[in-house]
Amino acid sequence: MFLKVAKKSQIEEKQKLLAKIRVHLRNDSMAKNLVKEYKLKNWIFDAVPLDFKKINVTAKTVNGTIYLSPKIEDMPFKIVMRYVIHEFVHVLQHITEQKKGETEDDKDQEYLEREDEIEAFQEQIKYDAKHRGLKAAEEYTDELLEYHKIPKTEKIHKKKELMEKVE
Ligand SMILES: [Zn+2]
Repeated sequence: MFLKVAKKSQIEEKQKLLAKIRVHLRNDSMAKNLVKEYKLKNWIFDAVPLDFKKINVTAKTVNGTIYLSPKIEDMPFKIVMRYVIHEFVHVLQHITEQKKGETEDDKDQEYLEREDEIEAFQEQIKYDAKHRGLKAAEEYTDELLEYHKIPKTEKIHKKKELMEKVE
């Protein structure tokens, strides 16, 4: 056999991580509920295109395809899944509303005023609270508001809105 079996290629490592993400997504109760809410079926877990790409954000979804930055390989898996849940919401939005994926690199405050982003962040933060605890999710939300330069006067309202689905 031509293959050197002993040495694992980078491609194998990447594919393994993608497989792990897909399995977790498929078995996640929140993701399954979202699929039901969007009146779709579980085939979506097999179909959703998932790949690595050098992008200037952690993750983004374009026309129903999720792209993950290679830097997620160094992140704790819970954090990776937090981003995947956000992007999965966009996939469902794209399928049902034929919305084209916009890039997620705009830092202006309008970004957090967009309905599609609010929904994606609500699910992401709910996932974060479930897996890392309320305090960590709250800290993340604060950082998010800071990053997107939400004015002080709007912060309380926006934080409440983004954390609305936290149980
Ligand atoms: Zn988004």
